[in-house]
Amino acid sequence: MAKKPKLTKKQKRQVSVNRSKRLAKSSDQSEMEDNQFEEQQVGRVIGRFGKHADVEDQQGIVHRCHMRRTITSVVCGDQVLFRPGKDLSLSISGIIEAVEDRKSVLTRPDFYDGVKPVAANIDQIIIVSSVLPSLSLNIIDRYLVASEDVEITPVILLNKVEMLTSEERAEVETQLNVYRDIGYQIVYTSCKTLTGVEQLAACLKDKVSVFVGQSGVGKSSLINVLLPDADEVIGDISDNSGLGQHTTTTAKLLHFPAGGDLIDSPGVREFALWHLPTERLTNGFIEFRDYLGGCKFRDCKHQNDPGCVLKEAVEKGKVSQQRYQSYHKILSNMDELRPSHAKP
Ligand code: GDP
Ligand code: ZN
Repeated sequence: MAKKPKLTKKQKRQVSVNRSKRLAKSSDQSEMEDNQFEEQQVGRVIGRFGKHADVEDQQGIVHRCHMRRTITSVVCGDQVLFRPGKDLSLSISGIIEAVEDRKSVLTRPDFYDGVKPVAANIDQIIIVSSVLPSLSLNIIDRYLVASEDVEITPVILLNKVEMLTSEERAEVETQLNVYRDIGYQIVYTSCKTLTGVEQLAACLKDKVSVFVGQSGVGKSSLINVLLPDADEVIGDISDNSGLGQHTTTTAKLLHFPAGGDLIDSPGVREFALWHLPTERLTNGFIEFRDYLGGCKFRDCKHQNDPGCVLKEAVEKGKVSQQRYQSYHKILSNMDELRPSHAKP
């Protein structure tokens, strides 16, 4: 047998560094002794903050957990395998051992990793918009594209409808019927008169939803109407001043009394359309899909190119002019949608 090689001074130093790292690790609470935990079971992450997560078990009991070091990311909505702690006097008693594959995930651009997950296993994205300050169809289109790109069903919600006269309401409905006609669900609500709240509750039932939309459209107000105990901070329309800003910085999953869940966090609310390759943008306009590939030129820009079947569909009234123009507007702004730090 070969003689054990002698270590150089440098190697010896390294060994001792490693040993102290190991010692530090084993005293780390996340590597607590196995006998401190109950058997492994399934649960769902309903709260996420710092290095910890709240996991709800199948009986609805919440366990504050550490995470195994091997787990790269845990977000609200994640289905996990975890072990509750035996000593419930500890503030953080359990441990998450594995995260199940995600059905869907919302991400935001991240300086280091490209994208960072913010919530998982979402069934639908409620795009909240309002008639005040003004209704922007282009913004709705941006959220629709972003939702289609992550393959999560969007629902269009128009809030503050009590502010509209009946003529204005009819006009808005005509505008939004374009979306209804291509298959999107539309909900009209008011947090003041509670119009549409029941319909919204029905739409949220048995699903995991997120509310997205610009500041001031009424997301917090809607959450308060649906979940009076949530105690959301209602901001003013100019929420960026810092004065009316939401104080919650952590992500949470809340249960609606009528069934269904909401995942909410500033990161989730900031879900937006970031830079996409043109093809993915085009695909995000779902009614265009029928025509894509049919144009004369493979690299058709769907503008003034000869033999463009999409343009032809617009001219024949099969595709909305408004959506077509909105597409070109987003396309021409695409480069600006890169997060500022990621700009070349
Ligand atoms: P968020 O930034 O999207 O969370 O919006 P907030 O819930 O903080 O609401 C912004 C402002 O709109 C607040 O002054 C709310 O009182 C107001 N607001 C919310 N919903 C309604 C509504 O249905 N009608 C009217 N008139 N105002 C509303
Ligand atoms: Zn074309």
